[in-house]
Amino acid sequence: MEDMKESDYKLEKPGCCCSGCGAGFSTGELYISAIKESSNATFNRKDFCRPCWAKCKDTFFSFWQTRRTADDTDKKLNEDTLLSLFQSLSDNEERRAVELRYVLSLYLARKKVLQLIDIREEGEQSLLVFERPQQSEPFTIKDPGLPEDRVQELTETVKDLLK
Ligand SMILES: [Zn+2]
Repeated sequence: MEDMKESDYKLEKPGCCCSGCGAGFSTGELYISAIKESSNATFNRKDFCRPCWAKCKDTFFSFWQTRRTADDTDKKLNEDTLLSLFQSLSDNEERRAVELRYVLSLYLARKKVLQLIDIREEGEQSLLVFERPQQSEPFTIKDPGLPEDRVQELTETVKDLLK
């Protein structure tokens, strides 16, 4: 897969303003990013200021907090976004969370944010063992046995979350 190019970004970047009230986020401000399942079983992302989030949080599937910093590059922002989403799903055993976590782990491995270090079999279940180089102990991700087209579809969804 190709790395993102400048032209892949829309003018209104994620994390620039609140989806609820439209207020811009300033440097140092905490805001909430959240994903919601869409009608075709993929995911949409929205960003909120804290007051707006308080009003709509019950309708979202998973969320994480981000703080804008002055020196964020697009690449770092994207990696942080996907890692935060990945971590927000870590205790969720729902099927859709397990699927998304699996696809995210593969995507992050391709981006060299995570490293795949082993694949283990436990009965019928394959477990992928990853680590975040220099940052974390190894951890395992269940392979949900998705058909290839569903993996593709969810990978596209992951890329859309950055637009
Ligand atoms: Zn708002």
